[in-house]
Amino acid sequence: MKIVMLGAPGAGKGTQAKMIAAKYSIPHISTGDIFRANIKNGTELGKKAKTYMDQGALVPDELTLELIMDRFKQDDCKNGYVLDGFPRTIPQAEALTKALAAEGDKLDYAVNVEVPDENIVNRMSGRRACLSCGGTYHVVYNPPKSEGVCDACGGGLVLRDDDKPETVAKRLEVYHTQTQPLIEYYAGEKILKEVDGTKDVADVFADITAILA
Ligand code: ADP
Ligand code: AMP
Repeated sequence: MKIVMLGAPGAGKGTQAKMIAAKYSIPHISTGDIFRANIKNGTELGKKAKTYMDQGALVPDELTLELIMDRFKQDDCKNGYVLDGFPRTIPQAEALTKALAAEGDKLDYAVNVEVPDENIVNRMSGRRACLSCGGTYHVVYNPPKSEGVCDACGGGLVLRDDDKPETVAKRLEVYHTQTQPLIEYYAGEKILKEVDGTKDVADVFADITAILA
């Protein structure tokens, strides 16, 4: 099964993608997590990506596509994947469609997690991320068992630099101009599914699994 998660930054794509990955035994591929791991490890790619990410801008398509096409070559992608944060522009979506078509393949679902902008700042300011394993928490809605510590790997939790309110506003603007058009793109491909992302995490997941069943 090949799934794309759509939605604004902070809509809950990563939270749901991790649960989908566990249930269907497919990898969760987050371009944001891959960029953050590169930044942490001080790679050339990380250095380039950081300048864009810190401003709430998108990393250029060329860099992102190189990274993701490389990731698709790994063995664990054979039975599908759930993509989170990719594609984020029409050229990225077109490149993905083309790469899959070259193998006689296509996406199965594009799941749009809908959350209005009013809820987003609240979600982002309370988000705490584990930079070791990509775990995501919320101080109120999804707290870790022990404050500041990742349940999954014991790593330290941080407020991401780009989750500060001034950057969130920019990211939302970028989302509306560059990423939201993907909803129409995947509607045209007849694979768009919409879920109400304002519900509790478990209820959103139940709605998604009903679609994927
Ligand atoms: P995205 O991957 O779309 O940027 P995340 O999955 O990281 O979003 O979620 C953003 C924040 O909102 C996190 O702190 C997460 O714990 C919290 N969150 C996710 N889903 C819900 C939900 N349904 N209700 C309340 N908070 C949520
Ligand atoms: P995320 O973890 O998905 O919220 O992504 C964090 C940041 O990484 C974004 O604000 C972008 O700067 C960058 N990024 C992640 N995925 C992409 C992508 N597909 N295209 C361009 N930039 C991306």
